[in-house]
Amino acid sequence: IVIGMISGILLGTFLQWLMPAGKDKTFELYFFQLSLQGFLVDGVLEVIGQVFMASLRMLVVPLVFVSLVCGVCSLKDTTKLGRIGGKAIGLYLATTAIAISLAIFVALLVGPGEGVNMPTSSSFESREAPSLAQVLIQMFPTNPFASFAEGNMLQVIIFALLFGVAIALSGKSGERVATLFEDLSVVIMRLVTILMNIAPYGVFALLATLFTTTSFETIENLAWYFGVVFFVLIAHALLTYPIILKLLTGLNPLIFIKKMRDAAIFAFSTASSNATIPVTLETATKKLGVKNSIGSFTVPLGATINMDGTAIMQGVATVFIAQVFNQDLTLTDYITVVLTATLASIGTAGVPGVGLIMLAMVLDQVGLPVEGIALIIGVDRLLDMTRTAVNVTGDSMVSVIVAKSENQFDEEMYLDPNAGQNIE
Ligand code: ASP
Repeated sequence: IVIGMISGILLGTFLQWLMPAGKDKTFELYFFQLSLQGFLVDGVLEVIGQVFMASLRMLVVPLVFVSLVCGVCSLKDTTKLGRIGGKAIGLYLATTAIAISLAIFVALLVGPGEGVNMPTSSSFESREAPSLAQVLIQMFPTNPFASFAEGNMLQVIIFALLFGVAIALSGKSGERVATLFEDLSVVIMRLVTILMNIAPYGVFALLATLFTTTSFETIENLAWYFGVVFFVLIAHALLTYPIILKLLTGLNPLIFIKKMRDAAIFAFSTASSNATIPVTLETATKKLGVKNSIGSFTVPLGATINMDGTAIMQGVATVFIAQVFNQDLTLTDYITVVLTATLASIGTAGVPGVGLIMLAMVLDQVGLPVEGIALIIGVDRLLDMTRTAVNVTGDSMVSVIVAKSENQFDEEMYLDPNAGQNIE
């Protein structure tokens, strides 16, 4: 997968160099570019990448539903659910708040937007932040099949939880249904394993296609903004998470970071925590030692409500836009930013680019011009990919902490460097 990632980036960048934009081209060059783009990029790489992405997303809803129902059934005492949910949600919100505070702090220190004078060319539609009440109401499905069809994760989670509790309370019939779900879960996990075998090619194709169009020029213009977001993302993943993990569980965080590699690369290539759920779940339950009873709940929940990386981008972007537009923010504004970004992450799904929609809500709350988003949109894709990797790392870390505290943790598996490696 690492080789797939690196060669994909290299090939994409090379193709971009072969196909420079610009008007004065000879006919031969134009023809050559057109065929390269048409056959190799659009015809082969794009197809492989999109098929791979679709297969990953295809698995998400069935996997989450089946493994969560199994997870709830295997929790002998379903009254524990409230406590597990409370711990997971508490940790998710707390880590997001830490992430965004860190981002605002570093951004204020560096001042990425000072002295930048950029005309805004495009406009960006803002959407109103949903109230907490709305988010709560919308978590409950009126029609579970509609939730499945739309891939509405929170609704799928709620239905699976209730369904699992009902199975656990249904005596003999419940036991029969539970056995069926356990078998289904084995079959779907096998499907994930099969997909993991072709993952290096998928990652390669996705990144190669993407890097044919990623322009590094825009990054140059916004180097400070890009650099600060990137720096805080890396610091959060490599410092904050290990410290929290060590403090709360006593486990060696280096092992955690190492084992997260594949899931992080997946998240990076797809820019979607939702699409990465199958890989994150596999990493949590087959490598990190989190029992399915916890992981099947905390991983999909985290993919939806936990977005530390996204929050970091929003923190830096708010400071950046305020500086570019010469507006001063007060302490209350910053607190509003932290709260809005943390709450906004609950109701939004982990799909590519959603961070910008959340940013629009945050900017609205503190009275900054939403058009400011047009300034940073050009470099957002690369940051989106990086912050998604941080998001899924956070989901996995919280899963480990909750599993350990609930004694649903296999420490031997965590310590075994080869756990989960022998995928056939
Ligand atoms: N793409 C991110 C995710 O799926 C969300 C975002 O930051 O836009 O986690």
